[in-house]
Parts: sequence; C-alpha cells; structure tokens
Amino acid sequence: MPRPIVATIHTAALAHNLARARLAAPDSRVWAVVKANAYGHGLERAFEGLHSADGFALLDLAEAQRLRALDWRGPILLLEGCFDARDLELCSRLGLWHTVHCNEQVDMLAAHKTQLPHRVFLKMNSGMNRLGFRPERYRAAWTRLNALPQVEEISLMTHFSDADGPKGIAAQLATFDAVTHDLPGERTLSNSAGSLRHRAALASRSDWIRPGIVVYGSAPDFPEHSAAHWGLQPTMTLASRIIGVQHLVAGDTVGYGSSFTADGPLTIGIVACGYADGYPRHCTTGTPVLVGGVRTRLVGRVSMDMVTVDLTPVPTAGMGSEVTLWGRSAHGAVLPIDEVALAAGTVGYELMCALAQRVPVVVDAVGL
Ligand SMILES: *Cc1c(COP(=O)(O)O)cnc(C)c1O
Repeated sequence: MPRPIVATIHTAALAHNLARARLAAPDSRVWAVVKANAYGHGLERAFEGLHSADGFALLDLAEAQRLRALDWRGPILLLEGCFDARDLELCSRLGLWHTVHCNEQVDMLAAHKTQLPHRVFLKMNSGMNRLGFRPERYRAAWTRLNALPQVEEISLMTHFSDADGPKGIAAQLATFDAVTHDLPGERTLSNSAGSLRHRAALASRSDWIRPGIVVYGSAPDFPEHSAAHWGLQPTMTLASRIIGVQHLVAGDTVGYGSSFTADGPLTIGIVACGYADGYPRHCTTGTPVLVGGVRTRLVGRVSMDMVTVDLTPVPTAGMGSEVTLWGRSAHGAVLPIDEVALAAGTVGYELMCALAQRVPVVVDAVGL
C-alpha cells in the first residue's frame, strides 16, 4: 500500500470560486491567474474547473504552451511579458498577449518580425515599485508602442500593493487615473484583494480583473476576513492517516527537540505527513488539524515525514483514522488553509504552491 498521504483538487470548487470572483465585478471579464502551476494545483487539473474564465494569466511560457495544448484558444496573458527576444516568436505563434513593463521589452518588440501584430498590456508602476514604467514615463512608452507596426492594441495595466490592507488603493488609483484618463484601451488593475475589497472604487474602470488566490479558495485578506466570509470553497485538500499511536504519561515529551511535554495522560496520533510533503515546518504545537473531521491540534515539531496530533477530542480515533491537514474532510468539515498558514507565519498562497512533488494528487469533480 502506498503511503496514505494524498492531495485532492476540487474542480467544482474552482468553478464556484471563479463565479464568486465574477460576481464581485459583474461588468469585467476575468483572467483566472494560473501562474506557478495554478498555485500548486496543477495547470491541467485546475483547467478542468476553470473553463468558464475569459482568459488565463500566467508568466511561464512553458505553462502557456501547456494551456494551448489543452486546446484553450482564448486569451492568455503573460504577466511579466517576454524575458528575451525569442519569447516574442512564441507569442506570435501561440497568440499570447503580453505585458510590456520596461524599455527593453519595447526594444525587443520593435525588432521583432511578425505577420500578426501583438496585443500588449502596458504596465504602470503606480507605487508598488516592482514592474512597470513610472507614471512620468508611461505616456512616452505608450506613444512609442503605439507607433510600432508590431503592436495591434495597447491595454493599460497596474498592480496594487495594499489592496488587502489599511493603506488601500486610493493613491495608486489616483496616480494611474491622472496619467491614463484620456488614453484609449482596456484596463486591468486588480488582483483578488482589489477586486473583492474595492469593488466600488474599481467598478466600471476594470475591463479585466485578475483574481488568483480567491479562485483557489483562500481569503486574500485573512485573518480580517475568512474564505467563508467571501463565500469561497477550498480547492485543495491535503489529507493523510494515522500510522501510529502513543499513550503518554505526565512528563513525556514529543518529537525532535522535545518541544512538547505532556502534563498528564495523553494519547497522540502519528500522521504520515511532514515538511517533505509541503506541510510547513514552522507550524508549532496548537496548529489546527482535523482527525476524523474533528478539530484538534498539532503537538511537538513537524518532522520530515510525520506530524503528531493530540487525540483527546477524538477518543474513537486510532490507526488508520483520516487526518485533514487543510481543506475538506470526508466528513464535510473544513479546515481553511489560511488558518494553517497563519500558524506557520505565512499565507495560504505559499502552502498551496509548496505542495511537494512526492504527494500523489487526485481530482474530485463532485461539488458540494
Ligand atoms: C499573481 C498576480 C495576480 C493574482 O494575485 P492574487 O493575489 O492571487 O489574486 C494578479 N496580477 C498580477 C500582476 C499577479 O502577478
């Protein structure tokens, strides 16, 4: 029998979450962001749940090729654009739309020989200071692109740094508007957090939204809001089983470094899941976990192949009992990935993306 750990991708939940994103911006078209192998879900698997997207946004050209191989004929946007001149040939061949965020990319386009002019998304650095032209350079870049025979259509793009927090988007939005108000072209401004939290400010200004994390059922602004608050369903379940049981007495310690000490009799389950499966080693005693659908806690350190859990709330649990590390248990109970991420001092994004290669993955197409 294989080691009992398994990840399940819930394609009906992907479709549900995509519909929630659409509801937040009913007048916009929706890029489903599928970079990083669809946030660790597997591009091909995620695609099964995301057919109804208007387009797919990603950044790896190999992933764009995989999408075309799935027969996706609709829009694909390269969020970081081209990395070198040869990438433009693939854009021409596969009909990829691409971000242009720097002069070097304009130079490459100007030198590119193509029959079919490209659709490009000109990115403004409106304050995040990652990719994009500074506001005072933006119009010059637009004018230059607009004069190129290689360019068919220019859309306008920016990205918010604080859509999920108290600073908000007002300053960046004002900067973007001031520079672009009289430029033609479609606009795409917001990721998940912007699309959900700032719908009023963005209404009628977004031809396209770019939700990623909400599609994967994680709240972009946890712990302020939960996934349930936004009506999202988990799209990835990481589950395993208890492969050993220990009955501790007061003073017994658990695991490497003896970081947990029992203060009385305690039954613990040993679970076949560790950091080599993608479960974060930073999770400490108290991290929530479900055993047989019942909420309990981790005790002691996470090791490479195992974690240990307190069985007190589930006295019927034992060898072979189902353990849900995150996602939905067979009993229907949900442990939000965001809660586990918080216990590890990180975000749901990182946990999904870090699901390890050695974990077998199955697809569950059945909805709730
Ligand atoms: C990753 C990414 C997104 C999606 O962000 P989420 O927070 O996952 O919704 C949107 N736009 C750009 C440019 C990105 O890189």
